[in-house]
Amino acid sequence: MSIPHVVIVGGGITGLSAAYALQRLRQQAGMSLRVTLIEQDDRLGGKVGTVQQDGFLIDTGPDSFLAQKPWAVQLCRELGMEDEIIAPSARQFFMLIRGKLHAVPHELVSLVPEKPEALWRASFLSFWGKLRASIEGFVPALRGADDESLGAFMRRRFGREFAQKFAEPLMAGVHAGHPDRLSMAAVYPMYWNMEREHGSITRGLLHLRRQRAPDKGTRRASPFVALQYGMGSLIERLARNLNEVDIRLSTTVVGVAPLPDNRLQVLLHEGEPLPAEAVILSTPAYVTAKWLRPFAAEAANLLGEIPYASTAVVSLAYRREAIEHPLDGSGFLVPRGEPFPITGCTWSSSKWAGRAPDGYVLLRVFIGYAGVDQIVEQQEDDQLARMAQDTLRPLLGIRGEAVLVRVDRWLKAMPQYEVGHLQRVQHIEQSLSAFPNLVLAGSAFRGIGVPDCIKQGKDAAERVWSRLLA
Ligand SMILES: Cc1cc2nc3c(=O)[nH]c(=O)nc-3n(C[C@H](O)[C@H](O)[C@H](O)COP(=O)(O)OP(=O)(O)OC[C@H]3O[C@@H](n4cnc5c(N)ncnc54)[C@H](O)[C@@H]3O)c2cc1C
Repeated sequence: MSIPHVVIVGGGITGLSAAYALQRLRQQAGMSLRVTLIEQDDRLGGKVGTVQQDGFLIDTGPDSFLAQKPWAVQLCRELGMEDEIIAPSARQFFMLIRGKLHAVPHELVSLVPEKPEALWRASFLSFWGKLRASIEGFVPALRGADDESLGAFMRRRFGREFAQKFAEPLMAGVHAGHPDRLSMAAVYPMYWNMEREHGSITRGLLHLRRQRAPDKGTRRASPFVALQYGMGSLIERLARNLNEVDIRLSTTVVGVAPLPDNRLQVLLHEGEPLPAEAVILSTPAYVTAKWLRPFAAEAANLLGEIPYASTAVVSLAYRREAIEHPLDGSGFLVPRGEPFPITGCTWSSSKWAGRAPDGYVLLRVFIGYAGVDQIVEQQEDDQLARMAQDTLRPLLGIRGEAVLVRVDRWLKAMPQYEVGHLQRVQHIEQSLSAFPNLVLAGSAFRGIGVPDCIKQGKDAAERVWSRLLA
């Protein structure tokens, strides 16, 4: 009998995690299995990458991940890099409202702080805005709906001001999404379910806090963590461990076709097609859609309906003395409606250790979100860089020029989980039931964060493995 072959398309964190999980399953079972991973780029990692430039450590895409979702921490542990997980050095962040940076009481991040005083300390909210937010627990629950937009949910529960000035930039920013289009059920299922199960976020959180061990007054661990040598080090470590996987870089897939007996073949731009017992596609939905159209039109149409937003990260380094602001925090967010072209700025060297040499600071500025991303698609790099610098100069009291400017543009990079996303994903999966050895995974489906992508890669590997054993 020939050795079963699995082809994984896409060498981002999802595809690499799938390859790693398959290799482990094969090793544990002591079975023969051939795994090929195809990546069109000349490097692995997809959106994840870190560069060392002039002594600065710059994450070009994600710079951190949620520790509460355990899959990234688990993977780091398995790869022997648990010691390289770092907590933020600064947690205070700010909201930019009418040209002024306002410190956000950190207890507010949960939306309903344990101690109500935290809400009343928020200098960027009016008295009425605070009052309205504070009665969230008395707002009747919406019954019978399958989904709602993030914006509508937040306005309904906490009032317009709290939603617009705080909840939306905090929660939609991660997705580069438009709050009035993002699906609450898909992007924040915990809060969505709290309203359904407990009638309000206030009561849902109260229930959750009662279940937790009593807080002894210690500062809670940060929900986000980073890696000492940048997110790219996770990719390097994964690649180094994939010694049984045939990794083919600079190889472009142009299609997938079903073969008899549930087998498939992957068509390459150059070279012979690759026949396989199973195929995992971790490519963007609009790429996958093109390949499925000839034999699974319904799935292709549904995949094609998942919109993507473009975003850019402008990394700027300055001499410390060129900036008047103490940079005593992790950065700031910019609510919609504020007259600035940026959505936020991370003070990377304040937030994470080892990002800049002594005497210098590193800042990361974000531009573009769904519906307002033409700016990223149409402007040249130097225009985006200028936009970022011009915005920061008066805000932070910057006197000198940047000593390093780097623009990473991510075109059609952020899948948008619009209202109804979960149902759409379910339909996609159902419409592919005739091809059980073809598995889709990655940021387009069940979570865009690095831990979610790792989980989806692992789940895809486990599904393929059980199919091969069947
Ligand atoms: C600017 C930015 C900041 C982010 N910040 C965070 C953060 O701080 N924390 C967090 O958790 N998440 C963050 N994310 C989200 C997270 O990085 C991504 O969702 C995740 O990395 C996506 O991984 P993936 O493997 O699913 O997709 P990708 O990384 O897109 O990988 C898909 C791969 O498929 C390859 N490919 C495409 N077409 C073909 C083809 N025809 N043939 C062969 N290969 C092909 C691509 O080259 C790519 O390598 C951020 C994303 C961006 C863009």
